[in-house]
Amino acid sequence: MPRGNLIVMTGASGVGKGTIRARLLEYIRPLYYSISMTTRPPRPGERHGVDYYFVSRPEFEAKIAQNGFLEYAQYVEDYYGTPREPVEKALAEGTDVLLEIEVQGALQVAQQVPEAILVFIIPPSLSELRRRLLLRGTDSLEKIHQRLKRAEEELREAHHFDYVVVNDQLDRAVSDFSSIIKAERLKTERM
Ligand code: 5GP
Repeated sequence: MPRGNLIVMTGASGVGKGTIRARLLEYIRPLYYSISMTTRPPRPGERHGVDYYFVSRPEFEAKIAQNGFLEYAQYVEDYYGTPREPVEKALAEGTDVLLEIEVQGALQVAQQVPEAILVFIIPPSLSELRRRLLLRGTDSLEKIHQRLKRAEEELREAHHFDYVVVNDQLDRAVSDFSSIIKAERLKTERM
């Protein structure tokens, strides 16, 4: 059985990755979404085991020591990581896997899994990104400032990615992303 494709979605905080991801999971089946582990506290409405596995720093560090992450990174003040085992299982079963992670993590995945497909989502502009982060209203101004700074740094890494998708209109971004997944499936004849 051919292995599944590992698809990595990266892009600045607030660029709309979460919304694009939800739509992709609706339209593209089978597609396995890897739930990340984080030391960040849950935002209102977020659920353990659905949005993230919310853990303490010692728990996260213990998993690092056991080589339990495919990749992990520190983002602003917290750790975020992709648990290795479920991803490897799904790929071995021939299912495509979607990761939604930041740049450092994506570059670690590219080193470990050279055939991974890296997709970078960009906002139409940085001022639009700022507007979306303010609208979301989930972070303090200080945190928004840190996230925007990080977004500028991340944009400089876009050239490492296989594809760039502009999230100007959501429908178009989702359709572009779906085409990438389908085209990559065709390469391995698994339409
Ligand atoms: P947020 O706090 O907004 O949920 O996530 C902050 C950033 O961490 C986002 O860019 C998100 O994509 C990224 N992130 C989420 N899960 C992971 C992960 O498992 N690994 C890495 N490297 N980044 C992650």
